[in-house]
Amino acid sequence: MSVAERPVVQEARRIMEVCNACRYCEGFCAVFPAMEMRRSFTTGDLEYLANLCHNCTACFHACQYAPPHEFDINNSRVMARLRAGTYEKYAWPGSFARLFRRNGTVISVATAMATALLLMLALTVQGKDIVLSLHQGGGSFYSVVPYRLMLGVPLVMVILATVVTVVGLVRFARGTGWNVKQLLDPELMWLAARNVLTLRYLGGSGDGCNYEDDTYSHKRRWYHQILFYGFGLCVLSTTAAAVYEHFLHWQAPYPITSFPVVTGTLGGVGILLGSAGLFWLKVKRDPRPQAESLLGMDVAFSGLLFLTSLSGLLLLSLRETRAMGVLLVLHLGFVAGFFITLPYGKFVHAVYRFAALVRFADEKRRNHPGNGIF
Ligand code: SF4
Ligand code: SF4
Repeated sequence: MSVAERPVVQEARRIMEVCNACRYCEGFCAVFPAMEMRRSFTTGDLEYLANLCHNCTACFHACQYAPPHEFDINNSRVMARLRAGTYEKYAWPGSFARLFRRNGTVISVATAMATALLLMLALTVQGKDIVLSLHQGGGSFYSVVPYRLMLGVPLVMVILATVVTVVGLVRFARGTGWNVKQLLDPELMWLAARNVLTLRYLGGSGDGCNYEDDTYSHKRRWYHQILFYGFGLCVLSTTAAAVYEHFLHWQAPYPITSFPVVTGTLGGVGILLGSAGLFWLKVKRDPRPQAESLLGMDVAFSGLLFLTSLSGLLLLSLRETRAMGVLLVLHLGFVAGFFITLPYGKFVHAVYRFAALVRFADEKRRNHPGNGIF
């Protein structure tokens, strides 16, 4: 063991060694079966296990050695702290790692600045009269924000966010001692995707997660599902709108019964409900198995998704009024804040956890080849 090792790594190793002898929680999630494939734990192993964990807190509430027991086993909290450390450690560029500290403030300030800047630009470049005028019919959005700007800026932001996220992912895979090529194995990706699509491990051992106490519930799984599929529908809506615009030359805004509007509305409502529900569960949570330093990141991410969705739905409802210009700029500001901070916020959890699930599928296939596809 390195003398320079961080205390949280040492604590995670101590807990995993106790858990590996106990194994009471092996049915709760993927962390424990992955732990059982090891007799010793490198720093990379522990960081991988920490990203397999999704903080359901079931192992804390079930543990007979949890505080005030002298063994002081608080696996949920230590995994969360270690996981937060991996976001900083593998962030790219490295100098941006500090954005994960006080992340709630970083996301709030970045979004507020992007929104204020866009509003200021619209009011000064386009003029107050255009922004606050009534615009109707095809192409009315582009009277407020020119088409090239509306297309070009988000495109650049998406490309940058993707590059930064992928480099971070490769650094995470290599840094935790895994073969990056396995990330692209279609069978392993499908197994991991299946777990993500059903959010299997948010079901615990069948009864769900814990929030305030040792009572189990599936609420977190449901809110996650609603948010996840709502987000997917919004991506589908944006993609369909891009096809309409660029290939069919039909200009937005589209009719209320059109495919982009129907999917966007359903997706937006899903994001509103999912993010509000997850926030409510955060407020009610038992703080003992949590890493309090992650609270700001979680709340800021849910809040930003909520505001992006709310502004989009308001824009849809009021697009034929004088409020359209301001609402469009506000919505684009929230979208810009989302993409600017995407690689340095809660979204990283989704990426690293997916990679950890692919690795888990890989380890299971190699260690239990007789089990076939599980
Ligand atoms: S968390 Fe507690 S009960 Fe669960 S495996 Fe570890 S030591 Fe055992
Ligand atoms: S908190 Fe939940 S997901 Fe994390 S190790 Fe414990 S049981 Fe597994």
